[in-house]
Parts: sequence; structure tokens; C-alpha cells
Amino acid sequence: MATQRELVEMTNKHLIPNYGRLPVAMVRGQGGRLWDADGREYVDLFGGFGAVGVTGHSHPAVAAAIKRQADLLQCCGNLFTNAPQVELAKAITERAFGGKVFFCHSGAEANEAAIKLARLAAGAGRYKIVSFNDCFHGRTMGALSLTPEKFQKGFEPMLPGNVKVNLGDIDAVRSALDDKTAAVIVEPIQGEGGMNVPTERFMRDLRAACDSAGALLICDEVWTAPARTGKWFAYQHYGVTPDIMTLGKACGGGIPVAACVAAPKHQDVLQPGKHGCTLGGNPLCAAAGAAVFKLIEEQNLVALAAAKGEAIMQRMRTAGAKCVKEVRGKGMMIGIELDKPGKDVVTKCMERGVLINVTQETVLRLAPAIVIEDSLLDKGLETLIDVLVNL
Ligand code: PLP
Repeated sequence: MATQRELVEMTNKHLIPNYGRLPVAMVRGQGGRLWDADGREYVDLFGGFGAVGVTGHSHPAVAAAIKRQADLLQCCGNLFTNAPQVELAKAITERAFGGKVFFCHSGAEANEAAIKLARLAAGAGRYKIVSFNDCFHGRTMGALSLTPEKFQKGFEPMLPGNVKVNLGDIDAVRSALDDKTAAVIVEPIQGEGGMNVPTERFMRDLRAACDSAGALLICDEVWTAPARTGKWFAYQHYGVTPDIMTLGKACGGGIPVAACVAAPKHQDVLQPGKHGCTLGGNPLCAAAGAAVFKLIEEQNLVALAAAKGEAIMQRMRTAGAKCVKEVRGKGMMIGIELDKPGKDVVTKCMERGVLINVTQETVLRLAPAIVIEDSLLDKGLETLIDVLVNL
């Protein structure tokens, strides 16, 4: 097998440099642990941007489902249906708000489907989408159009009709809505934007504002679901129901599974020919997704995320690290805001074998796998606290 150095060199030679990659090649993962090509072990408290944030790395139930399905049927195209995608769609809709599901592979694609569905459902002439400052909805042109300008540089022009307002500012939302608005898109907790949690009052007012303006409410749950925040879906914290919900990241336990879920009223808007995705809902990925939802149910991971997350937040709040301004989040989607840039903290933790992330310069992000062993989580948090206390 190639050495770490060789893999990094080959990466630089053969891969487009669009990611600010670290010079590390990962070769193995199990639960909350990762190993690089030099054999170094890491405690993973970030779960690959949340992608393995429910099941951890290479969960045996997900691996078994993939192996089983790989020998049976990997792809048949969407002219036909298949059992795993039916099972997964049922698992999602039964725990959400009913309705129907469109499958794809990435959060951005799920949001593209949501934009198209919202435009059709809202009716002729309605094309505008309101989103929020510090949001993140993906890198494809439609999703990018809803995402902050700093990500759009050089790719303009964007889709027409996007207006951004501050999360929490309901008056600004009301002023932005008009008879050309198709939808408002909101993350029930902003991930990339700094783990920002809106209030219940704001989310209820937002729902009401959409209703009175004839606009749809889209919840982008690519980061927040399933189970991560201590509810199956994070909108369930706020007593509101969206018209459309998008999913991605952790839904496949590390395998590409994303979805656009339409509420019953809008479930048949996308008629044949209106949208598609060749490999969307293919049996192999869908089997992984179905295994993830089954695992959450069987191991009660929703409640576990709520309890474990609260314990982590409490521990971080009382750790005595003076540089910590605020610890916020829900369940195991946690932000630790520092009074200084957090890049050094991420580097020092990594040097000591613990993986975390920083966003918006000063907000450390923790999103360990819900199933992470207590002793491993403890070890990771101890290291993080030691780094913070001695910063
Ligand atoms: N929506 C949210 C809330 C996200 O955090 C992300 C990615 O981080 C996306 C959408 C885009 O997902 P993907 O990278 O799978 O396209």
C-alpha cells in the first residue's frame, strides 16, 4: 500500500485542488476512530462534516446492509422501483410529516430539487427564494444562489430573486416576502454559519409569515437530521412543519444518500419528466440509508443524542476555559464560540489525535457520532479542554 506521503503527493498531482486538504490520508475508520496511512489513530469528534455523525465509521449494520445488497441488486434505474428505496422513503415520511420523497446523492442536489418543487408548487410567476445570512445550502448553482455572497465570487450571475435577511429578524422576512416569492429556506440550526439556533418564536412566526404570503417553507436538514439534534428532524423542536425538507450527510451512514421530502399537499407536484437523478435511490445506497434509520430506531439514538449532547455542552460550559464565550446547539450538534480564532485549537487537537472543526473563524464545531463510545468521547473532550484551558 502507498505511504501517506505518496498518497498526498498523488492527490496533489491527480485531484483538482478545490479542498483545502490537510496532508493526511485516512485508510481505516471504526466507530469514533480513524487511522491514517502512517498508522496514527484519531478520535473523530467531527464525523466527516457530519456524514458519519450518527453511525460512526463503518458501522457493522451499515456495512452488512451494503454487502447484502451489493450481491443482490446495485442499480436498476428509476424506470423501475426497488425495495430499499421504498423502505427508506417509508422510514423517513413516517417519522416526519408524511408526504413523498425524491432521492439523490448530496445536500446541494436535494436543495436543487426543493427549489424546483417550490417554484412549481407556489404557482406561476413565483420564483424568489428568501434565505438567511450565514446560511449554507450547497455549491451547485441554484443552492449557491441562496448561500452567502462570499461563496459565489467568480460564479455570477446567480439565480434571480434571492433575498437574504438575518436569522431571527421576522420583520425583515415579512418585508422580503412578496407575490413573487416561492419559498423561504431555513436551516433549523445553521451549521456552517456557526451552529446558530433560532428561537421557537421565530420559527413559528416564520411559518405564519410564509402562510400569509403564499410561500412555501423549506427546512434544510442536511446537517441537522436524522437524530443528530435529539429529535428525528430538527424542525420538530419548534412546533412547526415545513412544506419541504431536504436531507443528506448522515442519512447513508457515510454512503451518499440525500432526499427532498414534500409534504402531502405538494407530494405530487413533480410529475414524470419534471425532475430526475439517474442513480438517485439506487438500491445499494438506499439499503445503507434504510439500515441507518433502523439502527436509530432500534438503539434509541434520538434520545441518546439528546442526553449525550446535553452532557457534552454542560461539560464544555463548566470546563473553566476562559476563552469560551458560549456553548450552544441541540443534541450532538454543538458550537463552542471562542473570544479568539479557533484555528490553533483545531491544529493542536489534531496534533494530539483529536479531530474537531472551526467555522466562522471563532466557532469550534463538534459533531461526534451519536454511537461514539463514552470512553473515547471522554478522551477527546479531555484533550479539547486541556488545549482550551492552556490557550
Ligand atoms: N445544506 C446544508 C445545511 C449543509 O451544511 C450542506 C453542506 O455542508 C449542504 C446543504 C450541501 O451538502 P452537500 O455538500 O452534500 O452538497
